[in-house]
Amino acid sequence: KSLGRSSHQVFSPELRDSNRNRLELVERLRGVAMAEHELEMLYQPIVELSTRIVVGAEALIRWNHPELGLLMPDSFIGLAEDADLIIPLSNWILTQVGRTLAAWQYKDFNVQVGVNVSPLHFAAGTLATDVNSIVDSLGIEPGRLVLELAESKSLHDVDAVYYQLMDVRRHGSLVAIDDFGSGFSSLERLATLPVDILKIDKSLTQHLDSKDLQRRRAMTALCKAVVEVTHDLGKDTVAEGIETIDQLESCVDMGVTFGQGHLLGLPMTATQFETILLQNGAH
Ligand code: C2E
Ligand code: CA
Ligand code: CA
Ligand code: CA
Repeated sequence: KSLGRSSHQVFSPELRDSNRNRLELVERLRGVAMAEHELEMLYQPIVELSTRIVVGAEALIRWNHPELGLLMPDSFIGLAEDADLIIPLSNWILTQVGRTLAAWQYKDFNVQVGVNVSPLHFAAGTLATDVNSIVDSLGIEPGRLVLELAESKSLHDVDAVYYQLMDVRRHGSLVAIDDFGSGFSSLERLATLPVDILKIDKSLTQHLDSKDLQRRRAMTALCKAVVEVTHDLGKDTVAEGIETIDQLESCVDMGVTFGQGHLLGLPMTATQFETILLQNGAH
């Protein structure tokens, strides 16, 4: 199996922090990376917990750099944001994922795919029109696409975000709040932002089977409350970062709808994901 984090060299922090290398990476990203297929989207299964059926995936970007090996998104998405490259990159990602979705739709695979969007794309004001036009031009059923929006301080202009989310949802695509519980999350935003899905951050999921019993009880109580509120608001829940059977069972016990994590499936190529779908019953 060559799934997800494969045996390639992983980008070291010293390299990332050196300015020369940052510049070289940015130039390569701007120049050839998109054109030469060095960038690749992997798909991590999302499973309905009550049936264990794979109902979708999250698209995660990788950069197979000719010299540096496999680069994880945390080592270049930030660079792209700083260098004003995030919008072309984001549109490239949406188009790649869109083409894959169109192919799966054609093959009658009944799946939704989540794509991570940058707050800067909202800030530029073009996210909704870009997403809706990609969906239309590729002939994708809009409901198959889920935008994942991480709450962060950088959601400066909440009104602009609000209207673009409404626009995307009016067109039929879905929106998820990503990384809920990882730092800047607020219950107020959960109640007021127009979203369909709440993704519970792996930092919460991973405390559900903590050896520290007090912490475990506290996290379980917190997650339970969040799940209940979210479902009362008519939204679905996804627990991220499920790595152990105990975490999985705990999520099932508290009624979380969907799950994602290494226990349920690693990020894999579109072709590998199709194989999973064929074995799975989502077909
Ligand atoms: P995220 O959106 O929270 O994505 C989930 C991350 O958790 C992924 O890391 C995934 O590989 C990892 N993960 C999944 N299951 C488990 C598990 O059981 N345990 C642990 N420890 N980790 C797990 P990845 O692919 O390195 O992506 C990191 C972040 O980079 C993402 O966090 C997202 O914020 C960003 N990112 C990834 N792809 C894209 C993209 O296409 N566009 C943008 N704008 N951001 C992206
Ligand atoms: Ca995400
Ligand atoms: Ca997440
Ligand atoms: Ca994240």
